[in-house]
Amino acid sequence: MAPVTTTQRTVLAGARVVLPSGVVESGRVTVDGSRITAGDPAEPVTHDLAGRGYTVVPGFVDLHNHGGGGASFTSGTAEDVLTAVRTHRAHGTTTVVASTVTENLDALARQAALLSELVEQGDLAGIHYEGPFISPCRKGAHDETLLRDPDPATVRKLVEAGRGAARMVTLATELPGGIESVRLLADLGVIAAIGHTDAGYAQTREAIDAGATVATHLFNAMPPLLHREPGPIAALLEDERITVELINDGTHLHPSVLELAFGSAGAARVALITDAMDAAGFGDGLYDLGPLKVEVLQGVARLVEGNSIAGSTLTLDTAFKRAVTVDGIALTDVVQAISANPARLLGRSDRIGSLEPGKDADLVVLDAAYDLVGVMRRGEWVVEPPAAPSGADAATAGTGASGPASVRSGERA
Ligand SMILES: [Zn+2]
Repeated sequence: MAPVTTTQRTVLAGARVVLPSGVVESGRVTVDGSRITAGDPAEPVTHDLAGRGYTVVPGFVDLHNHGGGGASFTSGTAEDVLTAVRTHRAHGTTTVVASTVTENLDALARQAALLSELVEQGDLAGIHYEGPFISPCRKGAHDETLLRDPDPATVRKLVEAGRGAARMVTLATELPGGIESVRLLADLGVIAAIGHTDAGYAQTREAIDAGATVATHLFNAMPPLLHREPGPIAALLEDERITVELINDGTHLHPSVLELAFGSAGAARVALITDAMDAAGFGDGLYDLGPLKVEVLQGVARLVEGNSIAGSTLTLDTAFKRAVTVDGIALTDVVQAISANPARLLGRSDRIGSLEPGKDADLVVLDAAYDLVGVMRRGEWVVEPPAAPSGADAATAGTGASGPASVRSGERA
Protein backbone atom coordinates (compact mmCIF):
# COMPACT_ATOMS: atom_id res chain seq x y z
CA MET A 1 0.00 0.00 0.00
CA ALA A 2 1.06 3.54 -0.64
CA PRO A 3 2.01 5.53 2.40
CA VAL A 4 -0.80 7.72 3.65
CA THR A 5 -0.10 11.38 2.99
CA THR A 6 -1.84 14.30 4.59
CA THR A 7 -2.04 16.43 1.43
CA GLN A 8 -3.74 15.52 -1.80
CA ARG A 9 -1.23 14.32 -4.38
CA THR A 10 -1.78 13.85 -8.10
CA VAL A 11 0.74 11.97 -10.20
CA LEU A 12 0.51 12.23 -13.99
CA ALA A 13 2.67 9.81 -15.94
CA GLY A 14 3.24 8.43 -19.40
CA ALA A 15 2.63 11.58 -21.45
CA ARG A 16 5.11 13.75 -23.26
CA VAL A 17 5.93 16.64 -20.90
CA VAL A 18 7.28 20.03 -21.99
CA LEU A 19 9.76 21.26 -19.40
CA PRO A 20 11.95 24.41 -19.53
CA SER A 21 14.88 22.11 -20.33
CA GLY A 22 13.07 20.49 -23.27
CA VAL A 23 10.62 17.74 -24.09
CA VAL A 24 10.57 14.53 -22.03
CA GLU A 25 8.92 11.74 -24.00
CA SER A 26 7.41 9.78 -21.13
CA GLY A 27 7.46 12.23 -18.29
CA ARG A 28 5.90 12.51 -14.89
CA VAL A 29 4.38 15.50 -13.11
CA THR A 30 3.69 15.28 -9.39
CA VAL A 31 1.33 17.71 -7.73
CA ASP A 32 1.15 18.22 -3.99
CA GLY A 33 -1.76 20.42 -2.97
CA SER A 34 -1.62 23.48 -5.24
CA ARG A 35 2.05 23.14 -6.25
CA ILE A 36 4.22 21.00 -8.47
CA THR A 37 6.65 18.96 -6.43
CA ALA A 38 9.76 16.92 -7.21
CA GLY A 39 7.97 13.59 -6.71
CA ASP A 40 9.26 10.08 -6.29
CA PRO A 41 9.40 7.57 -9.18
CA ALA A 42 8.10 4.88 -6.82
CA GLU A 43 4.94 6.84 -6.00
CA PRO A 44 1.73 5.35 -7.45
CA VAL A 45 0.39 7.03 -10.59
CA THR A 46 -3.06 8.60 -10.20
CA HIS A 47 -3.47 9.55 -13.87
CA ASP A 48 -1.94 7.15 -16.37
CA LEU A 49 -1.72 9.09 -19.65
CA ALA A 50 0.45 6.56 -21.48
CA GLY A 51 -0.22 5.28 -24.98
CA ARG A 52 -2.55 8.06 -26.10
CA GLY A 53 -0.17 10.55 -27.65
CA TYR A 54 -0.87 13.10 -24.90
CA THR A 55 1.30 16.14 -24.16
CA VAL A 56 1.40 18.02 -20.85
CA VAL A 57 2.29 21.73 -21.05
CA PRO A 58 2.18 24.63 -18.58
CA GLY A 59 -1.12 26.48 -18.13
CA PHE A 60 -1.58 29.32 -20.61
CA VAL A 61 -1.13 32.99 -19.63
CA ASP A 62 -3.19 35.57 -21.56
CA LEU A 63 -2.00 39.18 -21.36
CA HIS A 64 -4.78 40.66 -23.47
CA ASN A 65 -8.38 39.52 -23.14
CA HIS A 66 -11.71 41.41 -23.03
CA GLY A 67 -14.05 38.56 -22.10
CA GLY A 68 -15.66 35.26 -23.03
CA GLY A 69 -18.56 32.94 -22.33
CA GLY A 70 -20.95 35.74 -23.29
CA ALA A 71 -19.55 37.97 -20.53
CA SER A 72 -17.26 40.98 -20.45
CA PHE A 73 -14.21 42.13 -18.50
CA THR A 74 -14.64 45.48 -20.13
CA SER A 75 -18.04 46.41 -18.74
CA GLY A 76 -19.35 43.38 -16.82
CA THR A 77 -20.28 42.85 -13.18
CA ALA A 78 -18.08 40.74 -10.88
CA GLU A 79 -20.24 37.73 -11.76
CA ASP A 80 -19.76 38.44 -15.49
CA VAL A 81 -16.02 38.69 -15.00
CA LEU A 82 -15.97 35.31 -13.26
CA THR A 83 -18.02 33.78 -16.09
CA ALA A 84 -15.41 34.99 -18.58
CA VAL A 85 -12.57 33.78 -16.35
CA ARG A 86 -14.12 30.30 -16.05
CA THR A 87 -14.74 30.11 -19.80
CA HIS A 88 -11.11 30.81 -20.62
CA ARG A 89 -9.91 28.56 -17.81
CA ALA A 90 -11.76 25.63 -19.40
CA HIS A 91 -9.75 26.40 -22.55
CA GLY A 92 -6.43 26.19 -20.72
CA THR A 93 -5.88 29.83 -19.68
CA THR A 94 -4.98 29.47 -16.02
CA THR A 95 -3.82 33.10 -15.73
CA VAL A 96 -5.63 35.98 -17.40
CA VAL A 97 -5.24 39.73 -17.49
CA ALA A 98 -8.52 41.63 -17.98
CA SER A 99 -8.45 44.21 -20.76
CA THR A 100 -10.71 47.24 -20.95
CA VAL A 101 -11.61 49.23 -24.06
CA THR A 102 -11.97 52.97 -24.55
CA GLU A 103 -14.67 54.41 -22.29
CA ASN A 104 -15.02 57.70 -20.50
CA LEU A 105 -12.58 58.02 -17.61
CA ASP A 106 -15.17 57.63 -14.85
CA ALA A 107 -16.49 54.39 -16.33
CA LEU A 108 -12.94 53.08 -16.71
CA ALA A 109 -12.07 53.96 -13.12
CA ARG A 110 -15.23 52.25 -11.85
CA GLN A 111 -14.51 49.09 -13.86
CA ALA A 112 -10.89 49.14 -12.69
CA ALA A 113 -12.03 49.24 -9.06
CA LEU A 114 -14.26 46.21 -9.67
CA LEU A 115 -11.52 44.32 -11.54
CA SER A 116 -8.96 45.15 -8.83
CA GLU A 117 -11.03 43.18 -6.30
CA LEU A 118 -10.93 40.13 -8.55
CA VAL A 119 -7.18 40.58 -8.89
CA GLU A 120 -6.95 40.76 -5.11
CA GLN A 121 -8.82 37.47 -4.73
CA GLY A 122 -6.61 35.76 -7.32
CA ASP A 123 -9.10 35.29 -10.17
CA LEU A 124 -7.40 37.82 -12.46
CA ALA A 125 -3.70 38.57 -12.89
CA GLY A 126 -4.13 42.28 -13.52
CA ILE A 127 -5.75 45.01 -15.57
CA HIS A 128 -4.77 46.10 -19.06
CA TYR A 129 -6.05 49.45 -20.28
CA GLU A 130 -6.45 49.40 -24.04
CA GLY A 131 -7.44 52.97 -24.77
CA PRO A 132 -8.34 55.77 -24.44
CA PHE A 133 -4.77 56.93 -25.23
CA ILE A 134 -4.74 55.65 -28.79
CA SER A 135 -4.57 57.11 -32.27
CA PRO A 136 -7.80 58.10 -34.04
CA CYS A 137 -6.07 56.93 -37.26
CA ARG A 138 -5.69 53.41 -35.87
CA LYS A 139 -8.64 53.21 -33.53
CA GLY A 140 -9.88 49.74 -34.51
CA ALA A 141 -12.91 48.90 -32.39
CA HIS A 142 -12.65 51.90 -30.08
CA ASP A 143 -15.10 54.81 -29.84
CA GLU A 144 -13.37 57.73 -31.55
CA THR A 145 -15.27 60.37 -29.59
CA LEU A 146 -13.77 59.10 -26.33
CA LEU A 147 -10.12 58.95 -27.42
CA ARG A 148 -7.66 61.34 -25.77
CA ASP A 149 -3.99 62.19 -25.69
CA PRO A 150 -1.90 60.35 -23.12
CA ASP A 151 -1.21 63.20 -20.75
CA PRO A 152 0.80 61.75 -17.86
CA ALA A 153 -1.55 63.08 -15.16
CA THR A 154 -4.51 61.20 -16.67
CA VAL A 155 -2.42 58.09 -17.24
CA ARG A 156 -1.38 58.18 -13.58
CA LYS A 157 -5.00 58.64 -12.47
CA LEU A 158 -6.10 55.53 -14.36
CA VAL A 159 -3.22 53.47 -13.02
CA GLU A 160 -4.16 54.57 -9.51
CA ALA A 161 -7.81 53.65 -10.14
CA GLY A 162 -6.56 50.07 -10.48
CA ARG A 163 -5.35 50.10 -6.85
CA GLY A 164 -2.11 48.33 -7.63
CA ALA A 165 -3.68 45.93 -10.15
CA ALA A 166 -2.89 47.83 -13.37
CA ARG A 167 -0.28 45.82 -15.27
CA MET A 168 -0.29 47.27 -18.78
CA VAL A 169 -1.42 50.35 -20.71
CA THR A 170 -1.60 50.36 -24.51
CA LEU A 171 -0.85 53.76 -25.99
CA ALA A 172 -0.04 55.53 -29.23
CA THR A 173 3.27 56.91 -28.08
CA GLU A 174 3.50 59.49 -30.90
CA LEU A 175 0.60 61.49 -29.43
CA PRO A 176 1.30 64.55 -27.23
CA GLY A 177 2.47 63.31 -23.80
CA GLY A 178 3.15 59.82 -25.16
CA ILE A 179 6.85 59.60 -24.39
CA GLU A 180 6.47 61.12 -20.91
CA SER A 181 3.66 58.66 -20.24
CA VAL A 182 5.87 55.74 -21.27
CA ARG A 183 8.51 56.98 -18.80
CA LEU A 184 5.88 57.37 -16.09
CA LEU A 185 4.52 53.86 -16.64
CA ALA A 186 8.02 52.39 -16.56
CA ASP A 187 8.62 54.22 -13.25
CA LEU A 188 5.35 52.88 -11.86
CA GLY A 189 6.24 49.32 -12.85
CA VAL A 190 3.37 49.14 -15.34
CA ILE A 191 4.04 47.78 -18.85
CA ALA A 192 3.91 50.49 -21.52
CA ALA A 193 2.60 48.75 -24.65
CA ILE A 194 2.88 50.40 -28.05
CA GLY A 195 -0.31 49.89 -30.02
CA HIS A 196 -3.24 51.38 -31.93
CA THR A 197 -0.47 53.67 -33.13
CA ASP A 198 0.29 55.67 -36.24
CA ALA A 199 3.95 56.18 -35.26
CA GLY A 200 6.78 55.85 -37.74
CA TYR A 201 9.98 53.87 -37.30
CA ALA A 202 12.00 56.59 -35.53
CA GLN A 203 9.10 57.58 -33.27
CA THR A 204 8.65 53.97 -32.23
CA ARG A 205 12.35 53.63 -31.41
CA GLU A 206 12.07 56.71 -29.22
CA ALA A 207 9.22 55.10 -27.28
CA ILE A 208 11.22 51.91 -26.79
CA ASP A 209 14.17 53.94 -25.50
CA ALA A 210 11.75 55.62 -23.08
CA GLY A 211 10.80 52.23 -21.61
CA ALA A 212 8.05 50.57 -23.68
CA THR A 213 8.38 46.77 -23.56
CA VAL A 214 5.36 45.31 -25.37
CA ALA A 215 3.83 45.64 -28.84
CA THR A 216 0.03 45.37 -28.64
CA HIS A 217 -1.15 42.86 -31.28
CA LEU A 218 1.75 43.48 -33.67
CA PHE A 219 0.60 44.19 -37.25
CA ASN A 220 -2.99 44.97 -36.21
CA ALA A 221 -3.96 48.64 -35.75
CA MET A 222 -0.61 50.09 -36.88
CA PRO A 223 0.98 51.17 -40.19
CA PRO A 224 2.10 48.23 -42.32
CA LEU A 225 5.71 47.21 -42.97
CA LEU A 226 6.84 48.86 -46.19
CA HIS A 227 10.22 48.54 -47.83
CA ARG A 228 11.03 52.26 -47.72
CA GLU A 229 8.92 52.99 -44.66
CA PRO A 230 9.57 50.30 -42.06
CA GLY A 231 7.20 51.95 -39.56
CA PRO A 232 6.57 50.61 -36.07
CA ILE A 233 6.59 46.94 -37.07
CA ALA A 234 10.28 46.82 -37.97
CA ALA A 235 11.24 48.89 -34.93
CA LEU A 236 9.27 46.58 -32.62
CA LEU A 237 10.44 43.33 -34.20
CA GLU A 238 14.12 44.20 -34.21
CA ASP A 239 14.47 45.47 -30.64
CA GLU A 240 15.47 42.96 -27.95
CA ARG A 241 13.58 44.94 -25.31
CA ILE A 242 10.19 44.36 -26.93
CA THR A 243 7.87 41.37 -26.63
CA VAL A 244 5.35 41.25 -29.48
CA GLU A 245 1.75 40.14 -28.93
CA LEU A 246 0.31 38.02 -31.76
CA ILE A 247 -3.34 37.01 -32.27
CA ASN A 248 -3.20 33.54 -33.78
CA ASP A 249 -6.82 33.04 -34.84
CA GLY A 250 -6.20 32.80 -38.58
CA THR A 251 -8.18 36.02 -39.11
CA HIS A 252 -5.95 38.71 -37.61
CA LEU A 253 -2.72 37.33 -39.10
CA HIS A 254 -1.88 35.16 -42.07
CA PRO A 255 0.08 32.09 -40.96
CA SER A 256 3.12 33.19 -42.96
CA VAL A 257 3.13 36.55 -41.17
CA LEU A 258 2.91 34.83 -37.81
CA GLU A 259 5.86 32.62 -38.79
CA LEU A 260 7.77 35.68 -39.99
CA ALA A 261 7.25 37.40 -36.63
CA PHE A 262 8.25 34.31 -34.68
CA GLY A 263 11.36 33.88 -36.79
CA SER A 264 12.32 37.53 -36.60
CA ALA A 265 11.71 38.21 -32.91
CA GLY A 266 12.58 34.69 -31.74
CA ALA A 267 10.33 32.66 -29.47
CA ALA A 268 11.64 34.40 -26.36
CA ARG A 269 10.04 37.66 -27.50
CA VAL A 270 6.57 36.52 -28.57
CA ALA A 271 3.40 36.46 -26.45
CA LEU A 272 0.41 34.67 -27.93
CA ILE A 273 -2.74 36.47 -26.82
CA THR A 274 -6.44 36.13 -27.59
CA ASP A 275 -7.70 39.75 -27.58
CA ALA A 276 -10.95 37.82 -27.04
CA MET A 277 -14.32 39.49 -26.62
CA ASP A 278 -17.51 38.13 -25.04
CA ALA A 279 -18.32 35.72 -27.89
CA ALA A 280 -15.20 33.61 -27.21
CA GLY A 281 -16.28 30.17 -26.08
CA PHE A 282 -19.89 31.23 -26.62
CA GLY A 283 -21.09 31.79 -30.18
CA ASP A 284 -22.18 34.08 -32.98
CA GLY A 285 -24.56 36.97 -32.37
CA LEU A 286 -24.76 40.63 -31.39
CA TYR A 287 -22.57 41.89 -28.57
CA ASP A 288 -21.39 45.11 -26.91
CA LEU A 289 -17.71 45.98 -26.86
CA GLY A 290 -17.65 48.86 -24.41
CA PRO A 291 -19.92 51.49 -26.00
CA LEU A 292 -19.84 49.90 -29.49
CA LYS A 293 -22.00 47.21 -31.12
CA VAL A 294 -20.30 44.15 -32.52
CA GLU A 295 -21.64 41.38 -34.71
CA VAL A 296 -20.00 37.97 -34.59
CA LEU A 297 -20.44 35.86 -37.71
CA GLN A 298 -18.75 32.50 -38.08
CA GLY A 299 -16.46 33.34 -35.20
CA VAL A 300 -15.26 36.67 -36.62
CA ALA A 301 -16.16 39.79 -34.60
CA ARG A 302 -16.71 43.04 -36.50
CA LEU A 303 -18.12 46.44 -35.58
CA VAL A 304 -21.70 46.83 -36.79
CA GLU A 305 -20.72 50.34 -37.89
CA GLY A 306 -17.61 50.44 -40.07
CA ASN A 307 -16.94 46.69 -40.20
CA SER A 308 -13.56 46.93 -38.41
CA ILE A 309 -12.40 43.69 -36.75
CA ALA A 310 -13.45 43.98 -33.10
CA GLY A 311 -11.31 41.64 -31.06
CA SER A 312 -11.41 37.89 -31.55
CA THR A 313 -13.39 34.87 -30.41
CA LEU A 314 -10.15 33.02 -29.86
CA THR A 315 -9.25 30.86 -26.88
CA LEU A 316 -5.62 30.01 -26.20
CA ASP A 317 -6.06 26.25 -26.71
CA THR A 318 -7.00 27.01 -30.32
CA ALA A 319 -4.08 29.44 -30.64
CA PHE A 320 -1.77 26.70 -29.35
CA LYS A 321 -3.09 24.08 -31.73
CA ARG A 322 -2.88 26.43 -34.73
CA ALA A 323 0.69 27.42 -33.84
CA VAL A 324 1.83 23.78 -33.89
CA THR A 325 -0.34 22.26 -36.62
CA VAL A 326 -0.93 25.17 -39.04
CA ASP A 327 2.04 27.48 -38.50
CA GLY A 328 4.61 24.75 -37.86
CA ILE A 329 6.12 26.44 -34.79
CA ALA A 330 8.19 24.11 -32.59
CA LEU A 331 6.33 22.83 -29.54
CA THR A 332 8.82 24.28 -27.05
CA ASP A 333 8.62 27.68 -28.78
CA VAL A 334 4.84 27.70 -28.56
CA VAL A 335 5.00 26.87 -24.85
CA GLN A 336 7.43 29.73 -24.34
CA ALA A 337 5.20 32.19 -26.18
CA ILE A 338 1.94 31.13 -24.56
CA SER A 339 3.10 30.58 -20.97
CA ALA A 340 6.67 31.50 -20.00
CA ASN A 341 6.99 34.88 -21.75
CA PRO A 342 3.70 36.38 -20.54
CA ALA A 343 4.46 35.06 -17.04
CA ARG A 344 7.80 36.87 -17.16
CA LEU A 345 6.18 40.11 -18.32
CA LEU A 346 3.79 39.91 -15.38
CA GLY A 347 6.73 39.42 -13.01
CA ARG A 348 5.31 36.03 -12.02
CA SER A 349 7.98 33.64 -13.35
CA ASP A 350 8.65 32.46 -9.81
CA ARG A 351 5.16 30.92 -9.66
CA ILE A 352 3.78 30.32 -13.16
CA GLY A 353 4.80 29.86 -16.79
CA SER A 354 6.60 26.49 -16.64
CA LEU A 355 6.34 23.02 -15.12
CA GLU A 356 8.88 23.05 -12.31
CA PRO A 357 8.86 21.95 -8.68
CA GLY A 358 7.68 24.74 -6.40
CA LYS A 359 5.53 26.44 -9.01
CA ASP A 360 1.73 26.53 -9.09
CA ALA A 361 0.25 23.32 -10.47
CA ASP A 362 -1.19 25.01 -13.58
CA LEU A 363 -1.11 22.65 -16.54
CA VAL A 364 -2.86 21.66 -19.73
CA VAL A 365 -3.17 18.16 -21.21
CA LEU A 366 -3.43 17.97 -25.02
CA ASP A 367 -4.28 14.90 -27.07
CA ALA A 368 -2.44 13.64 -30.15
CA ALA A 369 -4.22 16.19 -32.37
CA TYR A 370 -3.37 19.00 -29.90
CA ASP A 371 -6.95 19.33 -28.75
CA LEU A 372 -7.36 20.12 -25.07
CA VAL A 373 -8.40 17.18 -22.88
CA GLY A 374 -7.32 18.39 -19.44
CA VAL A 375 -6.74 21.58 -17.44
CA MET A 376 -5.46 21.83 -13.89
CA ARG A 377 -5.26 25.11 -12.02
CA ARG A 378 -3.49 25.37 -8.69
CA GLY A 379 -3.74 21.62 -8.23
CA GLU A 380 -7.45 21.32 -9.03
CA TRP A 381 -8.86 19.88 -12.22
CA VAL A 382 -10.89 22.37 -14.23
CA VAL A 383 -11.17 19.70 -16.93
CA GLU A 384 -10.09 16.22 -15.89
CA PRO A 385 -8.55 14.08 -18.65
CA PRO A 386 -10.46 10.91 -19.53
CA ALA A 387 -9.42 7.75 -17.70
CA ALA A 388 -7.04 5.41 -19.48
CA PRO A 389 -8.72 2.94 -21.79
CA SER A 390 -8.28 -0.60 -20.48
CA GLY A 391 -5.76 -3.18 -21.72
CA ALA A 392 -5.80 -3.83 -25.46
CA ASP A 393 -7.40 -0.48 -26.30
CA ALA A 394 -4.52 1.38 -24.70
CA ALA A 395 -2.00 -0.63 -26.68
CA THR A 396 -3.81 0.12 -29.94
CA ALA A 397 -4.07 3.80 -29.19
CA GLY A 398 -0.35 3.88 -28.53
CA THR A 399 0.64 2.72 -31.99
CA GLY A 400 -1.16 3.97 -35.06
CA ALA A 401 -3.50 6.64 -33.80
CA SER A 402 -1.09 8.76 -31.83
CA GLY A 403 1.30 9.85 -34.55
CA PRO A 404 -0.57 11.94 -37.13
CA ALA A 405 1.38 13.91 -39.69
CA SER A 406 0.39 17.16 -38.00
CA VAL A 407 2.34 16.20 -34.87
CA ARG A 408 5.51 15.58 -36.82
CA SER A 409 5.26 18.75 -38.85
CA GLY A 410 4.67 20.65 -35.62
CA GLU A 411 7.97 19.46 -34.24
CA ARG A 412 10.22 20.88 -36.88
CA ALA A 413 12.50 23.45 -35.35
ZN1 LIG B 1 -7.83 44.28 -27.29
